[in-house]
Amino acid sequence: MNRKILSENLNLSSYTTIKVGGVAEYFAEPKSVEEFSYLIKWSTLNNQRCQIIGAGSNLLINNISIKGLVICTKKMKSLTIEPYSGIVEAEAGVMLPTLSNSLAKNGLQGGEWAIGIPGTLGGAIYMNAGTGNLSLAKNLISVKVINKKTLEKLEIQKKDINFKYRFSSFQSNDLTIISAKLYFEPNGNLEKLIKKTKNNLKLKKETQPYHLPSFGSVFKNPENNYAAKLIDDMGLKGFKIGGAEISKMHSNFIINNSSASSKDIYELITLIQQKVLQKKGIYLQPEVRMIGFDYPN
Ligand SMILES: Cc1cc2nc3c(=O)[nH]c(=O)nc-3n(C[C@H](O)[C@H](O)[C@H](O)COP(=O)(O)OP(=O)(O)OC[C@H]3O[C@@H](n4cnc5c(N)ncnc54)[C@H](O)[C@@H]3O)c2cc1C
Repeated sequence: MNRKILSENLNLSSYTTIKVGGVAEYFAEPKSVEEFSYLIKWSTLNNQRCQIIGAGSNLLINNISIKGLVICTKKMKSLTIEPYSGIVEAEAGVMLPTLSNSLAKNGLQGGEWAIGIPGTLGGAIYMNAGTGNLSLAKNLISVKVINKKTLEKLEIQKKDINFKYRFSSFQSNDLTIISAKLYFEPNGNLEKLIKKTKNNLKLKKETQPYHLPSFGSVFKNPENNYAAKLIDDMGLKGFKIGGAEISKMHSNFIINNSSASSKDIYELITLIQQKVLQKKGIYLQPEVRMIGFDYPN
């Protein structure tokens, strides 16, 4: 292993937006596809568990030693936009707000909603992140991946990927997302697109505790219901365990009041689930992904 790109015993709390995390036995932030592939190969050949993180905006990492290699994609941020054809090629670490702003500035339509999601392209495809009925799946052409087990590199077409509400088939296979090709409709009105994009961010900030450490919506909305409403109905708005608090602004957000431990947050998640199950008979499924917990992701 090239020692320059590998850290040992790195605290991951600054790599998650909720600002808690454990200590990665090995950690790397590749700057290129070559480095990324090399790291995955290293972990496979050395029988080390390999976990990929993007911007850590949908992650709860337990405050324990995380065995194996954690790879953060945030430095893989090459982005190519063809304003006339509408074709976009982006590496896994490109941030959605960067993508959204760049699309608007190039007159490409359809990415204005993505401004308010502080995650990477890879994380957004994996999570099928979105708002309302909108997600990147609509604009996707293909995804380049590497198979963590066989180390084979493939380009998968959109038709071969299963996308559902906050689900993609990448959650149940061994494929790691390297980059993606997308299409957005060209020749949009620049001024209107930039205005709409800015306005979407403003709306987000008005309805969510955007400026505080969180991981976005904690739970998926159950069918024909809203997780935030169910949590509100339990009278849990503002409820705290240690430094973890159910946001007063949006009940499906847990915020870290600067001193929360991963245990506080996990206990708050469990408490919400128990209360909603007991009183409403509904099991709230976490949207947030967990590392280092015995939770079936
Ligand atoms: C303030 C705030 C607002 C949010 N608003 C929204 C919203 O409106 N809609 C929404 O859907 N989400 C929202 N989120 C949640 C989050 O931003 C999204 O789920 C985002 O897509 C996660 O991307 P990430 O890069 O942070 O992924 P991470 O949190 O780092 O990882 C999430 C999962 O993706 C996997 N993963 C990441 N990159 C790759 C890769 N390259 N290959 C394979 N697997 C990978 C990880 O292993 C992990 O299981 C919000 C979060 C915050 C903090």
